[in-house]
Amino acid sequence: MGEPFLQAVPVLQLIENAGFEAYFVGGSVRDHILGRKISDVDIATSAMPEEIKQIFPKTNDVGIEHGTILVHYKGAHYEITTFRSEQNYSDFRRPDKVSFIRSLNEDLQRRDFTMNAMAMDKEGNIIDPFAGKEAINKKEIVTVGNPDERFGEDALRMLRAVRFQSQLSFSIEKHTLDSLAAHCKLLENIAVERKTVEFEKLLMGPARSEAVQLLANSGIIQYLPGLKGHCDEVIQFSGQLRENFQLAESWVLLVFKLGLQHKEIDGFLREWKLPVQKIKRIKQIHSLILHRLENEWNLELVYKAGLEDAISAEIVYASLQNMDVSIGTIRELHERLPIKHRKELDVTGNDVMTWMGKHPGPWLREILEEIERSVINGVVPNEKEKIKKWLSASNLKSGKN
Ligand code: ATP
Ligand code: MG
Repeated sequence: MGEPFLQAVPVLQLIENAGFEAYFVGGSVRDHILGRKISDVDIATSAMPEEIKQIFPKTNDVGIEHGTILVHYKGAHYEITTFRSEQNYSDFRRPDKVSFIRSLNEDLQRRDFTMNAMAMDKEGNIIDPFAGKEAINKKEIVTVGNPDERFGEDALRMLRAVRFQSQLSFSIEKHTLDSLAAHCKLLENIAVERKTVEFEKLLMGPARSEAVQLLANSGIIQYLPGLKGHCDEVIQFSGQLRENFQLAESWVLLVFKLGLQHKEIDGFLREWKLPVQKIKRIKQIHSLILHRLENEWNLELVYKAGLEDAISAEIVYASLQNMDVSIGTIRELHERLPIKHRKELDVTGNDVMTWMGKHPGPWLREILEEIERSVINGVVPNEKEKIKKWLSASNLKSGKN
């Protein structure tokens, strides 16, 4: 057992001491068997939420209506969820009724894929009623039970299947895959936010290209924001999606492959409900690439972009041009920059107003921008006195003309 589990064993022990069952469940058990890094350790228990709250002094009711209590224990926190079963998904996404139960097996049965439906006790014994280990050995994603029923209950599971394919480089078992292709229309009922979470995880997985292709070929993209009818473009996107891409870079590439104009990006990304800051960055990288398609990098452009966005833009640009990425020039230019940010400029608006003896106005911004540009390009050093002299000299010149 790895460190995150060992740290959590006393939590299971405390629940057992109180007379209940408790197990590690879900993704952490799967990742443990796969030898992957374990992030969150989730715990399932026969204790009711109120009973858990009596065992641990520090808790939050994060999802108490679904049976989940967040427990703080020795500097870590754990989601502890009461065993539950789910009945009647009349809207293809949420169960009409969640019942708390005392049986682990029934809890495992409501889970999406066999690899995610295993539990592990505090001694490290695996409880695997649906042959999850076997599926992992075969590198297969298989629904627990009949895929038609399971996708009918919660259509998001189809997108999750493709997301796991991307993250684990597994394939989707034939019946599960056929069912997915037949039922993807049900994704119409799923909230965009939930789709976005899975899609972004998919975009970061090692087998992202194959997974995006599957989204296109299975028909799932017809039910993803802004992708309906863009099968060819999405396939092209999958071909140019590189393994080292960060999320923002993947979004920018997608926007390019869809042929969106700069002004259309906002609308597209808002449909995905991306946060404003993220949209802003994607748009900035997009405009840098538009620039890059016409020009080489120069000091001013790298300064305006900032190192990180300039590199991201070059990475996507290289993929669009089918070239190898080379960021040496950008790094070199960035190192040569006398200032990396406006706040490093050795003069302020107040200095300039005093020197000129003028009140603020649009002229001030123009002059400050001119100073900034000249400092960046090495026309004048970033020193107050020298800038003052340079300014009065250039003013004299313009006065003569
Ligand atoms: P990750 O490592 O990305 O967190 P995960 O398998 O832990 O992957 P979560 O979304 O954190 O995925 O869900 C935790 C567990 O809850 C899953 O392993 C699965 O057992 C169950 N689960 C999550 N979503 C669903 C769903 N839509 N339908 C059925 N079971 C689900
Ligand atoms: Mg998880």
